[in-house]
Amino acid sequence: MADVAVVGAGIVGLAAAYAARQRGADVTVYEPAAPGSGQSAGCSRIFRHAHDDPRMVTWAVRSRHIWCQWERDFGTELLSADGALSLGDGALDKLRILAGIEGVEAARVDPDQVARALPILAPYDGPAVLDTGGGSIRTEAAIAALTGALHQGLVGEQVITIGPAGSRVEVRTLTGRRRHDHVLVCAGARTAELVPDMAIPVRLSAHVRLTFAVTGGARERLATLQDSSGAFGATGVYAAAHTGNTRYSLGLSSTTDLTAPGGAQRLADLAEQARAYVATALPGLDPDPVGHVHCWVTELPWGSDGVGVWQGPGVSAVVGHNLFKQAPALGQALAQAALGEDLPADLAPAARFGGPPH
Ligand SMILES: Cc1cc2nc3c(=O)[nH]c(=O)nc-3n(C[C@H](O)[C@H](O)[C@H](O)COP(=O)(O)OP(=O)(O)OC[C@H]3O[C@@H](n4cnc5c(N)ncnc54)[C@H](O)[C@@H]3O)c2cc1C
Repeated sequence: MADVAVVGAGIVGLAAAYAARQRGADVTVYEPAAPGSGQSAGCSRIFRHAHDDPRMVTWAVRSRHIWCQWERDFGTELLSADGALSLGDGALDKLRILAGIEGVEAARVDPDQVARALPILAPYDGPAVLDTGGGSIRTEAAIAALTGALHQGLVGEQVITIGPAGSRVEVRTLTGRRRHDHVLVCAGARTAELVPDMAIPVRLSAHVRLTFAVTGGARERLATLQDSSGAFGATGVYAAAHTGNTRYSLGLSSTTDLTAPGGAQRLADLAEQARAYVATALPGLDPDPVGHVHCWVTELPWGSDGVGVWQGPGVSAVVGHNLFKQAPALGQALAQAALGEDLPADLAPAARFGGPPH
């Protein structure tokens, strides 16, 4: 039986560990904190098919299949059926990329359809696209279900080094060491520093996302939102609903470097901009936030959806951003690599997966 270690129990590590376990591997997951408390923290994420890179659309289709399979495995909803709404000309550009990709149902929608998909939105009559296979990811349910399934293999320790040991790989933690056939490094913001020889070109920045209460009780339907239209005074807006549709989390995709002077103030400014957007664009929300999530963004040089897997003998390390939706397919690919098979070519750093078309 292959002996696989996974460093990190965020959504990516858990997905990889679950896939490796399903394929019969003996899996150890190292995680010193609560599973899902790193970049995967918070109550919702957007699942969308639209990406600049058509390869990533195909991966999203595959991931959606696995999300649905996980819902059957665990007997719980992990993806809402509310759809993913995008506003602005950029949404139409992405619709052209989606056209013809099997498994995607997305179309331009009129103002009435926009209002039905997202009844908390102010009147909007600009370009809009609805991806009916998109929706809000039930992040906490996903982390809980995977953690429960992997419970026996979870080790509450921090990994400090990963290095070769003959034909195997040695993992050192603060209190011990252990050898494995393959180590998958899925440590989010800490991945690059655990494999310094791989020189992964990741840029770390910080991000804030606010949670708002839906006024007047739960809505039957709350599509996720991406707004690049500028119609409500901001662009780069993204938002998703929590389970039960009584709360909606929203952020601006801008990030800030906390090591630079003024970084903390910029984070506060981003939160204020998000609040101001809600006050203008989303009259169905109470504009006083009920929660904040601060988180690291790990971006590769080729774009905000970029992802890559760096490999050395017995070690595969994954880095990228916006990975929640893609975690199921990514997890299967990582498990494949851990079990001695080739990694899908898309994930090699040279493939610049998730970047704009060449
Ligand atoms: C505010 C926000 C909104 C987002 N919105 C979306 C979205 O709408 N859709 C989407 O798809 N994605 C979205 N993302 C991105 C997505 O959430 C992340 O890409 C994803 O959660 C990353 O998961 P991960 O498992 O790689 O990392 P993490 O969740 O950070 O997991 C890494 C784990 O490794 C552990 N670890 C670190 N160092 C060590 C060590 N030395 N030893 C052992 N364990 C270690 C950490 O404790 C952590 O639990 C968003 C991110 C943020 C911050």
